[in-house]
Amino acid sequence: MTDPITGIHHITAIAADTQRSIDFYTGVLGLSLVKLTVNFDDPGTYHLYFGDADGRPGSILTFFPFAMAAPGRAGAGVVDTTTFLVPADSLEDWIVKLEGHGVVTQGPDERFGQPFIAFTDPDGLKLELAAAASGAGDAILGFAGATLWSLAPDRTLRLLTEGLGYTVTGEEPGRTRLRAAGDAAIGRHLDVITATGATRARPGAGTVHHIAFRVPDDVAQEAWREKIAALGYDVTPVIDRQYFHSIYFRERGGILFEIATDPPGFAVDETPHRLGTALMLPARYERDRERIEKRLPPVRLPGGGTVGG
Ligand code: ZN
Repeated sequence: MTDPITGIHHITAIAADTQRSIDFYTGVLGLSLVKLTVNFDDPGTYHLYFGDADGRPGSILTFFPFAMAAPGRAGAGVVDTTTFLVPADSLEDWIVKLEGHGVVTQGPDERFGQPFIAFTDPDGLKLELAAAASGAGDAILGFAGATLWSLAPDRTLRLLTEGLGYTVTGEEPGRTRLRAAGDAAIGRHLDVITATGATRARPGAGTVHHIAFRVPDDVAQEAWREKIAALGYDVTPVIDRQYFHSIYFRERGGILFEIATDPPGFAVDETPHRLGTALMLPARYERDRERIEKRLPPVRLPGGGTVGG
């Protein structure tokens, strides 16, 4: 029996300006920069990880900032919207806060009985805040879920339910809601847009690159790798991403899926209270640190330090 997938591990999107993303996600949304590193496949660019203060799986939104990245276009074949969970009764405070930063908000509206507001980040990435059933304060708790806009919704739904262990919990016009197995408090929901005939999304700034699902360890991941290969998907070998281990495959609706392990986590190379305060490099790039850092655009970190340039 395969250990169940218990929800979203992280979501990765494309941005155009590193500083602007840091300022928005930490300064406006109040997330922590839990890791500043480079794109392991392209060390001339950053890879930013935002999340809760502990960098827990289920709270992690990451960005590849490509300077001069052309704006993408929403459409089918990608994760359309990323939804964060906030404490009950905090949406009105969030509207005031976001509007105070010049962010245009829509709502509150309701979906599957849950109130939410919608807005975009400075690159146009579609975001929502959905109210939890309880909780105090305003701080983002992690992901509520994500909305997948598939080129083949029937096939995406079949993979999620028959393959990845999700359960359908609701239907609204044009949208099906699913819930992951287990009892994780964050990141359990996925919505699949069921309309067909949509234009394909154009990758670029303000669009999601991939969504990662979480598994507890390497053994579970290997079991999932075998299962997904047996379902006929072209799945990569395990890749060491330093903070988790990853496999990738593209589902039939065009969306790039990843399955990532919870361990080792973001404290593997920084002490927990120092997360995101320095540029971290995997061992293979450490000897080139000076050259790599000089090529990266200079950025101010939330803690006051500077990196790059
Ligand atoms: Zn990823």
